[in-house]
Amino acid sequence: MEDVRPAASLRAPLRLPHKALMGAGPANAPPRVLHASAQPLVGHLHAEALRVMDDIKDGLRYAFQTTNPVTLCLSCAGHGGMEASLTNLLEPGDVAVVAVNGHWGARASDMVTRHGSRVVKLEAPLGQPVTLEAAEEAVSKHRPRLLFLVQAESSTSVLQPLEGFGPMCHKYGTLLVVDTVASLGGTPLWTDRWELDVVYTGSQKVLNAPPGLAPITFSPRAMQRITSRQKPCSVYYWDIMQLGDYWGCFGNPRKYHHTGPVSLFFALREALAILAAEGLTASLRRHAEAAARLHAGLQRLGAEFLVPDPRHRVPTLTAFSFPNVDLQAVARTAMTRHGVELSGGLGPTVGRILRIGLMGVNASEDAVDNVLSVLEDSIKNPILTNK
Ligand code: PMP
Repeated sequence: MEDVRPAASLRAPLRLPHKALMGAGPANAPPRVLHASAQPLVGHLHAEALRVMDDIKDGLRYAFQTTNPVTLCLSCAGHGGMEASLTNLLEPGDVAVVAVNGHWGARASDMVTRHGSRVVKLEAPLGQPVTLEAAEEAVSKHRPRLLFLVQAESSTSVLQPLEGFGPMCHKYGTLLVVDTVASLGGTPLWTDRWELDVVYTGSQKVLNAPPGLAPITFSPRAMQRITSRQKPCSVYYWDIMQLGDYWGCFGNPRKYHHTGPVSLFFALREALAILAAEGLTASLRRHAEAAARLHAGLQRLGAEFLVPDPRHRVPTLTAFSFPNVDLQAVARTAMTRHGVELSGGLGPTVGRILRIGLMGVNASEDAVDNVLSVLEDSIKNPILTNK
């Protein structure tokens, strides 16, 4: 007799509805990507898996626009990219300047403190990026180990300009870390041209793969810092010196670090192949055009944008509200009646806004027109209770 009986809920096979994922992510994935994850399993160190990993490295170097040899995928969500960047670069007592203008800068600050390093917050109002001048003032004063910026602060949909920040940081011996979880592939990002030192993203947004992988790249400058640490990276799972050997980045024989999620690798490999076939420039243009169409439609509906300056709005995600409209009821109606996900706010913007994501395959004219008509219906005829 078993101590615990199987749950009745596990008797039926799994069946899920199709939803249009037009919120902050994950976004929908194309069938080719989903089918790839159903390919037969192979051992994670078998030749087939290693070839897939090599393809991923090539695809990521293209997406990140870098020649960095240390470009790979962490087996985790985007949060792991944040943890790995900070843990590999920082040692106890180091200083990190973190731009805080929303949820994700605040999250990174929390991580820095947990690692025993000191955080200096460089704050900007919600809806605005930090300026190069303000960043230089903080960096020249505190001479931090790193400056942390979020390219698409998804809690507000602010676009952080990045040009000029790399050379500025390097003048003071500081490394530049950039979160591109909500932007890579849909917002211009040039890792080498802009001298970015560590850049990470998530598989589940613009890249159109399932959640669970965090692509990341380290510049030679960042690697120099890591190889001259006094002690190895304090978390084994994030140690880029170990991960680099698992991914074949240092020219050594591959070495087991952990069991890679091969089915997710297959999916990401196909997602990157789709990006390579479309071309980054075309993908960026498609996201910009879809965003312009969405913004014009939202304006027609009388929306108020959280980010006042259109130059500071990310193309991949738009935060807005309507005066005297129950935003929760709008999101509920969009999902219940139309199967369309709209996100509410996050962190400091909870309850104050809605967010529409245009990521990967969802950055299209059809998707924009559909989400606008769903939004209009949900405002006019909201479902007012949860029933
Ligand atoms: N950074 C940003 C800018 C994000 O938008 C997100 C996800 N919303 C994350 C980090 C964290 O990613 P994940 O949920 O995959 O851990």
